Amino acid sequence: MISYGKQTIDSDDIKAVVDALENDLITQGPAVERFETEIASYFGSKYCSAVSSGTAALHLIGKALDWGSGDIILTSPITFLASANSILYSEATPDFVDINPLTYNLDINQLEEKVNFYRREGKQIKAVIAVDYAGNPCDWESLRYLADKYDFVLINDNCHSMGSEYLGEKEYAVKYADLVTQSYHPVKHFTTGEGGSVLTNNKALDQRIKLLRSHGMTKEKNIIGDNKGPWYYEMHEVGFNYRITDFQCALGLSQLIKLDNFLNSRREIAKSYNAAFNDKKNLKVPFVPHYSKHSYHLYPLNIDFKSISVDKISFFRKMKNNGILLQVHYIPIHLQPYYKKSFGFRKGDYPNAESFYENEVSIPIYPSLKKTEQKYVIDLFLKEFDE
Ligand SMILES: *Cc1c(COP(=O)(O)O)cnc(C)c1O
Repeated sequence: MISYGKQTIDSDDIKAVVDALENDLITQGPAVERFETEIASYFGSKYCSAVSSGTAALHLIGKALDWGSGDIILTSPITFLASANSILYSEATPDFVDINPLTYNLDINQLEEKVNFYRREGKQIKAVIAVDYAGNPCDWESLRYLADKYDFVLINDNCHSMGSEYLGEKEYAVKYADLVTQSYHPVKHFTTGEGGSVLTNNKALDQRIKLLRSHGMTKEKNIIGDNKGPWYYEMHEVGFNYRITDFQCALGLSQLIKLDNFLNSRREIAKSYNAAFNDKKNLKVPFVPHYSKHSYHLYPLNIDFKSISVDKISFFRKMKNNGILLQVHYIPIHLQPYYKKSFGFRKGDYPNAESFYENEVSIPIYPSLKKTEQKYVIDLFLKEFDE
């Protein structure tokens, strides 16, 4: 079965993990710091805190920013649940901004309208979590401009876009956003099994996140004062155990070396899909704005099911019978029963996101997808869509 995405693991990765398991410390050891240093260097960030998942990274951000009841945080309805759930963890209020139908990212004009809508009610937006959907960066100059103009914290949920470029820079995420989250789940660009990071250039926020990822425990002299004994630690606020292990970081270090090759492979596959599907009447390939170099975590193909004879369910079934496991990214979050029930969201609230959901299909893209498999996917699709 060919799925929409999966990890690429080689013998170097396996050796790195086995070696790490033979060390004295298999967690809270030296590989974690080494991984953080390499991640910070690759993505141009001053600080990096590696944690147990991308979701943990998002949770810690809300805690470090002291989100709480009554705070309004905006995100896109077309993202993984964790982007929005992280707002709920802090008991803040989530709201959404519809996507731009071309880029599939949160629409800048509608964002400004929503901010002003709240301002008219005397309310201030606390933060915006923007997602570089599928690997296609948002319009970050405009986002930064709005964050400064309206004084909200700007977060880049960068889990799809590690290695994407914005205006020629793969270091763009930390440059424009105040905080950046990454995920190293096996379907992402590189993996630690489970894992994630928070990247920032803000020292105070980084220190707070490092404290919160490990129970809020500290031995820092500037916090606890005089040495009260080598065993001594203090806790000033409730933290979590969101640590990542040394053997996961060893895998991450080994994977990071190959990230550029992984990115090249993904872009090559996207190129052949683009060439095959670009001029087909009922298909829309991903749009790449002038400022963006896409990294294709996903290849979201937009299929106009209304104008063809097959519906989405039958199409999925047919492809599965032919050995291709498609996916949909994503069901708009505002349509999830929990969000509808808790916040009163309804069908029709975000029409661009909803019509995107009707048409979107994520087709196989991962570095080890063979040329013959790509051709197999393309031929099957063309058989369906060539008139
Ligand atoms: C994968 C992902 C996450 C969550 O990461 P985990 O490591 O799976 O917890 C969050 N946001 C987005 C956009 C993601 O794709």
